[in-house]
Amino acid sequence: MTKKSQEGLTVKKEENFSEWYSEIIQKAELADLRYKVKGFLVFQPWAVLSMEKMYNYMEKALRKKGHKPYWFPTVIPKSNFEKESAHIKGFSPEVFWVTKGGDKNLEEDLALRPTSETAFYQMFSLWIRSYKDLPFKTYQRANVFRYETKATRPFLRSREFHWIETHCVHATAEDAEKQVKEDMGTTKEVLHDIYGLPFIFFERPSWDKFAGAYKTFATDVLNPDGRVVQQPSTHIISPNFTKAFNINYEDKDGKEKQAFTTCYGPAISRIFASIITVHGDNKGLKFPWEIAPVNVVIIPIQDDKKIKDKAESLKKEIEKFADVEIDYSEKSPGEKFNHWEMKGVPIRIDLGMKDLKEKKITLFRRDLDKKEMVNEKEAVKRVKEISEEFTKNLIKKADSLFKDKIKDAKNLPEVKKIINEEGIARVHFCSVEKIGEKCAEIIEKETGAQVRGTRLDEQQKSNGKCAICGKEAHNIVYIARAY
Ligand SMILES: [Zn+2]
Repeated sequence: MTKKSQEGLTVKKEENFSEWYSEIIQKAELADLRYKVKGFLVFQPWAVLSMEKMYNYMEKALRKKGHKPYWFPTVIPKSNFEKESAHIKGFSPEVFWVTKGGDKNLEEDLALRPTSETAFYQMFSLWIRSYKDLPFKTYQRANVFRYETKATRPFLRSREFHWIETHCVHATAEDAEKQVKEDMGTTKEVLHDIYGLPFIFFERPSWDKFAGAYKTFATDVLNPDGRVVQQPSTHIISPNFTKAFNINYEDKDGKEKQAFTTCYGPAISRIFASIITVHGDNKGLKFPWEIAPVNVVIIPIQDDKKIKDKAESLKKEIEKFADVEIDYSEKSPGEKFNHWEMKGVPIRIDLGMKDLKEKKITLFRRDLDKKEMVNEKEAVKRVKEISEEFTKNLIKKADSLFKDKIKDAKNLPEVKKIINEEGIARVHFCSVEKIGEKCAEIIEKETGAQVRGTRLDEQQKSNGKCAICGKEAHNIVYIARAY
């Protein structure tokens, strides 16, 4: 990186969010954008280390719920891809095709997977025989490729991204619905309680479904600029799709029945974008404790044997429960402080001669941006205590900001006002079925925002009138601008 990367941020998050985002990615050394293929980026260690931890938490949560890991090929035969018409129609503008091996044309064109339903389903039809095989729950950690035509942004939208996709087969429609609820629970457990991201889990309106889905559910996280980012989504796949792939099973009564499938897609690299934007501030990144690349950094203030010994012995103790580093670089202490604040390390320990003589140690905690003096003997215990409350503090702050952004609107001018103030509007709405699409189009035209759907976690029935057309409202929906 250039020398400049050591300086602090020059743009304020609340003043120019977009510039702030670009700058923090470069200065915290998360990604290098100078790779020579548009929409592709080089993930740097500081991002990879965190994302590895993110993967682990998400995969562990999935395995606990009975998902088994697979690694499928990156390429999908064209004939698989063409089996289901809605899917191919929705995805074909975004597919990268492999057509040659060396200088020979391939027998069949191969898609670089944009998502893997058509890869898994071909195997499901071979593997699933009886009701005893169900539910059949899988997942894989994978990178997927989409020829995005919208403007790309690092982590948020690129042409290759890193995600987890789960693919499940169920005996009944009710089991598929249950899986959606389970996925919502997983999102809460991991996205909120570990990554610290507040969200709403929506059922999308009927006009806004995944290509090939019967129902689509999705998580929206709010960016500080008032736009929502779609995070993990869950789909109940259309029966046409399962039919096209012959995913059948023999039921208890001996009859052959068609199975139901669901999928869930937490995109780790995209969620990482939300972690940067939701928690970061004008000094740099802030990582929840569990997914910080390094949890504790020790800064020796002077080059001294006693300090070095102390640093090493602290490291040894803290290493038992956290990732810790000592910064022996030749930068000045001030430069080191700024550097690690930019990097979002949860706790910094400053070791100086004066403190050591008094048997004291200075801790700096990034959750509250506060310094603490502790007794030398208490230092490790205190680090442990802070580690247990650290993420909770980030969550508290993020939750309260999120709650304040959701406001009720009674009519289109009120929706407009809330959207312009970077919020999410909640309104009575005629219908999330096809007949409501007209009202959604009026909203989009007038405000640039979209109907994101109805909440799945709270059954909200409307007894009012549609904020747009004034007809009887059947739903309460949320409206926001989206990326
Ligand atoms: Zn309406």
